[in-house]
Amino acid sequence: MGDEHSYAPIRGALTRAEIDALNLQAWDLRNVDRERAVELARLTARSATAIGYQRGAAQARVSQSVIARHEEQSDRALELLGEAIPALEPDGPSRWLAWSHTLVGGICADVGELERARHHYLLGQDIGAASNDVDSVDAARLEAAQLLEDPGQRLAALTAAEGALSPDSSDRSRWRVLLAVADALLLLERPHEALERVEQAKTLLPRPLSPGVRLSAGLVESRARALLGQGDLALELAQETMAAESETASSADLSEASLRLAEVYQAADRLHEALDLLTLLDERGEHWPTRALEVSARLAAVRAALGDYEGAYAALRRHHRQRAAHEAAQTKRRVAVLEVLYRTREAEGEMRAQVSLATELDSTITQLVESNSSAKESALRDELTGLVNRRFLNDQLDQLAARLGGPSTISLALLDLDHFKAVNDQHGHLVGDLALREVGLLMTRWAPPGATTARLGGEEFVALLPGMGAEDARLAADDLRRTLAHHRWPPELGASRLTASIGVATVTGPLDPARLMRRADDALYAAKERGRNRVVGVQVSAHNTHPAEGSTTAS
Ligand code: GH3
Ligand code: MG
Ligand code: MG
Repeated sequence: MGDEHSYAPIRGALTRAEIDALNLQAWDLRNVDRERAVELARLTARSATAIGYQRGAAQARVSQSVIARHEEQSDRALELLGEAIPALEPDGPSRWLAWSHTLVGGICADVGELERARHHYLLGQDIGAASNDVDSVDAARLEAAQLLEDPGQRLAALTAAEGALSPDSSDRSRWRVLLAVADALLLLERPHEALERVEQAKTLLPRPLSPGVRLSAGLVESRARALLGQGDLALELAQETMAAESETASSADLSEASLRLAEVYQAADRLHEALDLLTLLDERGEHWPTRALEVSARLAAVRAALGDYEGAYAALRRHHRQRAAHEAAQTKRRVAVLEVLYRTREAEGEMRAQVSLATELDSTITQLVESNSSAKESALRDELTGLVNRRFLNDQLDQLAARLGGPSTISLALLDLDHFKAVNDQHGHLVGDLALREVGLLMTRWAPPGATTARLGGEEFVALLPGMGAEDARLAADDLRRTLAHHRWPPELGASRLTASIGVATVTGPLDPARLMRRADDALYAAKERGRNRVVGVQVSAHNTHPAEGSTTAS
């Protein structure tokens, strides 16, 4: 605490210049000292209105809006922006306007309107660029990358955002991007690279502005250590970080930190401590619904790992009830948000013309966001695993077939779990589902760049590997087969080992999707016949089908 948090009271009428300066201060304090930010914004709004300074009042609304969003009053936040944006627009592109659109994007993302969110991030980025404000460009790019739910895609987009940082980018932007990259790396269980990013981030800002940021850096490091098997060090770090920031961090940041600490306990196999902490969080109640959902999901997992299946089941049921309630509330909020958006749409069109598309969001991010949200929004995803489904895969094959006139190579790997019926019979359907979800996760992690991984249904999965020849595809498939065979499955599966048989078909030249799929199925059948837990590859030629370099046997 100390100096940072004591301020002299402000008295008397304010000039325009003073209002501008205080508005910037309020904006900067939005995550550091919310109360002070609220107080400043209220003061500048009042003073600006009193002297007829429209722009000053509008800037104050932007700060008030960011705070309303943090307090989950999305429609209030948008109302404020709906007043601020038209008042800011006559002055042309400015960072305040850029921030406003990035905020609209964030609010859309909160209520699941991803396409709209992307649109406003783009606007924020363009307006930021048009007003030479590197920081708002970096922020919009970062937010757009964070829209991606698939960890691999998010990492790709964040890495692109990291590469797009300029020499003029602020240390704060660098810091945020580095931590976001580290976080995505942790989700993909790549702790070494995550640690590198944290180390880099630490050298940038010895005393970063926000305690929330210090907290997240310490906890990212701690989670990385836990993944590396350094459980004691991980815990020490997490506890130290939390103790150091407990006075200054907001209660929301501290809840988040406690949840990450519980994650570290889980990873370090200190299940009783994880249980205590999660129980505490659960009893205290949580304002932020997605965090509450994570608490109940983790509680169920920890209880199950401790053998308390009854407790796990109860937690799971509660989790599902919470989820249903959350989704209902989300729908309501979404309607409110759409209403406000509708009212402000015209003004936005004019701004669009003014910034004349100064930049386009980096093409990698745009593509990733597009493929991600199109899959999400048109029910092309499999609910259980989050992979795309058969329909999406068929669409993609058709598109490839239409596009590939010349001699190009495509491989398709068809995977079927071995004796999966036995898993259901022994452990029940819920555990079977758990295993299927894990297979989806392993496939996502394994997927080479450009691959599409899909669940066809049941215990059958597909990886579409454009540009990959027979030998490479067979090797890649065998990698996946080995990953599954050696995987440490969740304890619910007991001693069961889970393996898969994979048929790989490769075609060079015109693509006939149905034929490719049939050949992969033949190869899969051959793999089953030869004893399962193996890969069989076939080449599909225009006239006949013959085995590729042979089959890979179990190891
Ligand atoms: P193999 O492929 O090695 O010949 O044996 P298998 O036992 O895996 O083969 P089979 O195709 O006969 O059985 C597939 C089983 O997959 C049947 C069903 O119990 C299970 N299954 C299919 N869809 C789901 C699902 O969504 N959830 C769960 N838990 N099980 C499923
Ligand atoms: Mg099957
Ligand atoms: Mg099977």
